[in-house]
Amino acid sequence: HAKDNGRGCFAYFSEDLTIAVRERIALEVRLRKAIKQQELRVFYQPQMDIASGRIVGAEALVRWQDPVEGLIPPCRFIPIAEETNLIVEIGEWVLRETCRQGRQWLNMGLPPLTLAVNVSPHQFRRSDINALVATVLRDTGFPAGQLELEITESGLMENQDKTTNILNSLHAQGVHLAIDDFGTGYSSLTYLKHFPLDVLKIDKSFIDDIPHNKDDMEIAATIVAMGHILGFKVLAEGVETLEQLAFLQEQSCDLYQGYLKSHPLPADDFVALLQANDSSPKKPVESDR
Ligand code: C2E
Ligand code: MG
Ligand code: MG
Ligand code: MG
Repeated sequence: HAKDNGRGCFAYFSEDLTIAVRERIALEVRLRKAIKQQELRVFYQPQMDIASGRIVGAEALVRWQDPVEGLIPPCRFIPIAEETNLIVEIGEWVLRETCRQGRQWLNMGLPPLTLAVNVSPHQFRRSDINALVATVLRDTGFPAGQLELEITESGLMENQDKTTNILNSLHAQGVHLAIDDFGTGYSSLTYLKHFPLDVLKIDKSFIDDIPHNKDDMEIAATIVAMGHILGFKVLAEGVETLEQLAFLQEQSCDLYQGYLKSHPLPADDFVALLQANDSSPKKPVESDR
């Protein structure tokens, strides 16, 4: 019967929704508890200078160390955190923890590294991001010139005037600014030209199919050339093969990050990699031939 079908459908649909909502609320509750119980961790993925192969920085990437489930990746909780505004709290914690760690590494005598922290559009929209950064830098004693903030194109485009003001004040503090996932959002060259940006991060999706997809190769090459014209450094994300690295080197891309060198690592493992890398400096492409 149509009525039964309708009711069945409706009942099924509604039950499904309830489960989804219930799961979301449960996750939100767990996430709040996780923050309080200090279950969040920062992992560090090295960023290399392409010409020398040396590690010159790292991106800070958050993880959730759940006592039962183990390590939970950001794709499982960042979207919920964005919806519930918990991202503001998480983002502040990641910034503070990264700067604290960076200061400790300097105190240990490690060479100065650029540490890149992701800033969500929600966090960015709050006009006190400047005050937060100033406070964290002061509290931790981490040098502003070694901090890089990664913002996505969507985070930048919402309100031009406000964005320009925030970016200008961050820049005035000496903090570096990067556009994350470049090429996947909507950006206008005019705005890129006017914002005080330092780094364009080419999205991994343009790197994945190099050297098989000629379109992607041209796009990547064009982003490098354009970035250089605008005075930015260009970093390629998600580099997994030597072919990709060789291509980027030919294009004079400045920096790279990816599994080819390393996955994101806990702080201690990152330091071990840094020390192993530093004692045997070699060019990335030659060393593996
Ligand atoms: P993202 O900022 O674009 O970070 C790069 C992501 O690509 C990381 O995933 C990294 O592990 C992954 N990746 C790097 N190299 C490779 C590679 O060669 N192959 C592949 N397949 N993947 C690679 P992760 O750590 O899972 O983070 C995912 C996203 O979650 C990040 O993308 C970022 O948007 C978000 N996220 C992570 N930590 C934070 C945070 O502290 N705050 C905010 N707002 N977002 C964060
Ligand atoms: Mg990022
Ligand atoms: Mg990215
Ligand atoms: Mg991404």
